[in-house]
Amino acid sequence: MRHVLAISVDGLRPATLERLGATRAPAYHRMLREGAGTLNARSAVERTTTLPNHTGMLTGRPVARARGGHGVAENNDGGGTVHAAAGEHVGSVFDVVAASGGRTALFTAKDKFALFRRSWGRSIDRFHVDEDNAALVRAVRTELVTRPRRLTFLHLSLPDRAGHAHGFTSAAYVAAVRRTDRLLGSLLATVRRHAWLRDHLVVVLTADHGGTTHGHTDAAALSNYRVPFLTWGAGVSRGRDLYGLNPELDRPGTRRPGYTGDQPVRNGDLANLVCDVLGLPSVRGSQLNAGQRLDLR
Ligand SMILES: [Zn+2]
Repeated sequence: MRHVLAISVDGLRPATLERLGATRAPAYHRMLREGAGTLNARSAVERTTTLPNHTGMLTGRPVARARGGHGVAENNDGGGTVHAAAGEHVGSVFDVVAASGGRTALFTAKDKFALFRRSWGRSIDRFHVDEDNAALVRAVRTELVTRPRRLTFLHLSLPDRAGHAHGFTSAAYVAAVRRTDRLLGSLLATVRRHAWLRDHLVVVLTADHGGTTHGHTDAAALSNYRVPFLTWGAGVSRGRDLYGLNPELDRPGTRRPGYTGDQPVRNGDLANLVCDVLGLPSVRGSQLNAGQRLDLR
């Protein structure tokens, strides 16, 4: 029975990973070389901000409430729930895993993810906030080795934080991406050292959005809506491009495809990809990858 570690690196620009290459961002490139992925996935169409895109990753829904989306359009936690934002009950990947008897955890570097605990707390066995990204990764590594959960979701914030402070093309931003690469490398090394994890764990890594000079609010900017989507681990093809593995997908080039017609890989595909990997039904009410068609081999 497989398990999943889903990682979202807040504000991770694929262009920076390309520029750094395998020598200066070895862990990200290892996921590409040994797994199935793309550096040209897409965020939500409507928003390139943190809470709307993470809500999409967890629910498989677009943002716009009018078209059955999750309704979380604002990037601050106002103390409500996703259900209130949507005007209806919104299921999440945590609910699907919990309903199957699996245990889940959400590790995050931002307080505002309390929105998710408030919304799906009964399906999240452990909710842990720590701004210290290295401490978060240590906690996840400990759990992986001692009592792996069927779904662990880890959110890291270093690139976003450096991007807002110094610019998303600054040296400080690049250094923050490299720090997350080392943290990712430590997680991959933990998996490699433990036979059970090697045989059972799938790692899925994406981002909520990229970034431009000093922000990422313009949803029409390529550098904001382009994100990575990498998968690696048990049962995942090695060194395959996700668009090559899934020819029915729309290779978006530099475009920003809407939700009708052929779809690119989106960060919001994550929820139902996790269900697929775990052999579970799709998230109720989801629209993105709802047929679990995104194949990793
Ligand atoms: Zn940000």
